[in-house]
Amino acid sequence: MSTARLLSWGKHPRFPQLPTSCNWRDELSRKLAQARQAQGTTLPYGAGLSYGDSCLAASDHVLHMRPLDRFISADWSAGVLVAEAGVTLEDILSVAIPRGWFLPVTPGTKYITLGGAIANDVHGKNHHRRGTFGRHVRQLGLLRSDSGHQVCSPGSEAGLFNATVGGLGLTGLIEWAEIQLVPIRSSQIDRVTQRFGDLDEFFALSAELDHKHEFCVAWIDCAATGNAIGRGIHMAGDFAEDGPLAVENPRKLTVPLTPPVSLVNGLMLRTFNELHWRKAPRTRSRARVGYAPFFYPLDAILKWNRIYGPKGFQQYQAVIPEGEERTGIHALLAAIADSRAGSFLAVLKRCGPARSPGLISFPCSGTTLALDFPQTDRLDTALFPRLDAIVRAAGGRIYPAKDAHMSGEDFRSSYPGWSEVEALRDPALLSRFWERVTR
Ligand SMILES: Cc1cc2nc3c(=O)[nH]c(=O)nc-3n(C[C@H](O)[C@H](O)[C@H](O)COP(=O)(O)OP(=O)(O)OC[C@H]3O[C@@H](n4cnc5c(N)ncnc54)[C@H](O)[C@@H]3O)c2cc1C
Repeated sequence: MSTARLLSWGKHPRFPQLPTSCNWRDELSRKLAQARQAQGTTLPYGAGLSYGDSCLAASDHVLHMRPLDRFISADWSAGVLVAEAGVTLEDILSVAIPRGWFLPVTPGTKYITLGGAIANDVHGKNHHRRGTFGRHVRQLGLLRSDSGHQVCSPGSEAGLFNATVGGLGLTGLIEWAEIQLVPIRSSQIDRVTQRFGDLDEFFALSAELDHKHEFCVAWIDCAATGNAIGRGIHMAGDFAEDGPLAVENPRKLTVPLTPPVSLVNGLMLRTFNELHWRKAPRTRSRARVGYAPFFYPLDAILKWNRIYGPKGFQQYQAVIPEGEERTGIHALLAAIADSRAGSFLAVLKRCGPARSPGLISFPCSGTTLALDFPQTDRLDTALFPRLDAIVRAAGGRIYPAKDAHMSGEDFRSSYPGWSEVEALRDPALLSRFWERVTR
């Protein structure tokens, strides 16, 4: 057993987790039973790239699933891959791209595990076209402490499948999953970039470009005020029709140590954002780029979470449903600019209508805003309550994968499927997040 303690990506809240390493599928039953006997409950932990407390066990003892990292089978004529839950998206890309396949959905980092992608039902820049990751899972193997091994899919044991997709690791240990990949002709992306001056321009660009492109996302200047609220840079893209099928492994930098205080402050933020926005093209500009800088720009800097200092940071990600988006997102951005908090990592993205099988999946048809904040006490007492009130009034909700503050009332009213997940929860599994929002 490793004794190094694990945290979540945001390093807040700080409840160090003692991991039990899971290397083989045939030892999972024993390890789950031992954890239940010794601690009462535990939780599967993937790569720990969730920001808040959804990957932290209520008992502070996790089953570390990352070492379970073998491919099981592949049908390259159909793009169907079966792999253990600890395989990362990076591992999958390294075998799939040379054969002309890509992930159907990918978040902004390729270092997450297959189990983590399913348990948070992650979304990416093509949500408006393909929905969430869980829509592309054909079947999965689940191990429960009360009923042993189960195989579930949309057509068999569908109730358990729907509770497991986006089910925050609470319905059992995902041992393996079978996923459907998408065909590509080239691993390069034809990218279209254009800056916009306010939120109205963003929605106009989105209405024009979303249905033309597979991938769309915008960076937002969260420090902008007045008429400039909501200004940013829109990026659309599609896989190129020709070009290499090449796995990209760009040189990476590493933030070498955690500074004593956060390096992200108001002055730096406003200066960076101003320069970043000004250097983006005013008119539509096209370029062919690699998939790595397009999908995973943050992966180029390892351990970048260290820049927020020892207190860590929180990400606030909410989705505002269609019809309420303009007023809701504007109000959120105005409150954030007013607080003079935030970071240069702020993302705006329209989500599409494709429904996920997941009972408590996050995205819905509307617009999602995500941004990071260095951890301070004022976040939880002043800014976040203000943002939560706006999200609540607009009928929106907050993403559990990024959350460390949502109230139980907000969670239960915005995720009515939670009680079905609770009914199917494995009694041996409980997270700090679930304890916080359901008890
Ligand atoms: C830079 C960055 C960018 C990101 N961009 C996006 C984005 O664009 N879209 C998005 O949706 N998310 C995004 N995320 C969040 C991230 O994709 C999710 O939090 C993801 O679920 C993390 O996976 P993980 O393997 O690290 O799992 P962890 O964070 O370790 O765990 C996540 C959940 O999965 C459960 N789990 C893990 N393994 C298993 C298993 N084998 N069986 C059952 N349950 C399991 C855990 O219990 C926990 O509830 C981003 C994160 C980072 C750091």
